[in-house]
Amino acid sequence: MEKFNVIVVGAGPAGATAAYLLAQAGMEVVMIERGATPGSKNVSGALAFSHVYDEIYPRFWESAPVERGIVGHSIVFLGKEASVTLDYRDLAEATSPSPNPSQGAGNGAPSPNPSQREGDRSKGANAYSVLRARFDPWMAQQAEEAGAMLLPGYTVERLLMEEGRVVGIHAGGDDLMADVVVIAEGTRSQLLRQAGLRDDFNAHDVSIGVKEVIALPEDVITNRFQCMSADEGVAYTCVGHTGGVDGGGFLYTNRDTISLGVVVKIDSLYRSKRQPHNILDEFKAHPFVQRLIRGGEVVEYSAQAIHRGGVHLMPQLYGDGYVVAGSAARLLLNNVMTLRGMDVAVASAASAARAILAAREGGDYSKEALSAYETHFKQTDVYKDMVTFKDTYALMDNQRLFNVYPDLACNVMGDMFSVRERPGRKVYGALRDNMKEELSLWQMMKDMAQIGRGLVR
Ligand SMILES: Cc1cc2nc3c(=O)[nH]c(=O)nc-3n(C[C@H](O)[C@H](O)[C@H](O)COP(=O)(O)OP(=O)(O)OC[C@H]3O[C@@H](n4cnc5c(N)ncnc54)[C@H](O)[C@@H]3O)c2cc1C
Repeated sequence: MEKFNVIVVGAGPAGATAAYLLAQAGMEVVMIERGATPGSKNVSGALAFSHVYDEIYPRFWESAPVERGIVGHSIVFLGKEASVTLDYRDLAEATSPSPNPSQGAGNGAPSPNPSQREGDRSKGANAYSVLRARFDPWMAQQAEEAGAMLLPGYTVERLLMEEGRVVGIHAGGDDLMADVVVIAEGTRSQLLRQAGLRDDFNAHDVSIGVKEVIALPEDVITNRFQCMSADEGVAYTCVGHTGGVDGGGFLYTNRDTISLGVVVKIDSLYRSKRQPHNILDEFKAHPFVQRLIRGGEVVEYSAQAIHRGGVHLMPQLYGDGYVVAGSAARLLLNNVMTLRGMDVAVASAASAARAILAAREGGDYSKEALSAYETHFKQTDVYKDMVTFKDTYALMDNQRLFNVYPDLACNVMGDMFSVRERPGRKVYGALRDNMKEELSLWQMMKDMAQIGRGLVR
């Protein structure tokens, strides 16, 4: 029977990173991916936040198929017929040149002088928009070049167990054995549940994301989103106008497409008896979104489950003969401003790889030896960020965030900017008028305290 040092299940960011680091350190690694190619089954927004990626794949933006360096992030409150936007632009990054030199400036914008170009490039952007069907194969390729074997088109059907210990996997009619199995199979993560190594996930903690990719000419995107060149892009996080269902929307600019979608909580969706694609259609029909995508053609539609995130939901990350990384371990950070799953997956895989390499030294892959994974992960910035934003979990349960405040913000701003037949009011007066029966002052103060706990201090 075939035996490897390591079997990695799944070639997403977590699996590919574990395979890359372990193969690089000389371990015999096989990575099994159910998609015909890595990324073909995967759905993300997607913004890849650079910091963690850059640590593992130095200056990845120079060789990876990234779309645009993100120089603007906006939070948009969508009211019924208006919107309020909080707009952030990194104006230093806004002058940076092509993240991927082979792609050039794109829209004919003048190139900065060479010294400025070198300086900017070494910094990279805070995040890049990526398309998983292009980006995941690049990550898998890094693992293959380091010596890992990629087996695409095979679904791992079950874990092989001996005396309570994971000793291999069954896929494509064959048993494959390993010293250690890295479980990086994403949100659904059936293998551990089947093997009785974890309980079912609670629907309350899972959302569904539906996404479209909309094609538009590169220069239209560059101009419409006020970018300096085709290398720059922007990201919008939208709150409100999700048909009364708890969740939000996103819109990210790629080179010649826009990624647009909604992520809604499954239990709230179930209660609403609505379909996710209807919510996406309504979101797209909002005048704010319409203006941004007009003239575009939908070229891709996809849907996938996604954990809500929450540091308190993190399960034990290891057991005898296995580790679990990325979404399979419910690792995700959603703090309203940013949704981070890919870099969190990469960070967890890097910690797992480190523990496996230490276990190799002693030839001991027991859960005691592999517990170093969790110890190390808890020291990472990613984990610390998850702790910092732990209270956003409760915030996301507050339905007024999605159903009351976006309209309230729009109405108050509408009052402040409009000259009407009646005398104007200061913000407090406009606020009290618009709160009407929807919200008491006491309730609003409690909500502000909750927002404060989640995001402010
Ligand atoms: C709509 C949406 C938008 C998102 N936006 C962002 C974003 O902008 N930025 C961000 O950082 N994160 C985002 N995320 C979250 C991000 O997609 C995940 O957190 C990230 O992909 C987790 O990586 P992973 O490697 O753990 O799992 P995955 O990326 O899900 O990879 C798992 C891999 O395992 C394979 N697989 C599954 N089961 C098996 C099996 N039995 N045998 C073999 N192979 C298997 C799958 O095909 C897949 O390739 C978003 C998610 C959704 C749904």
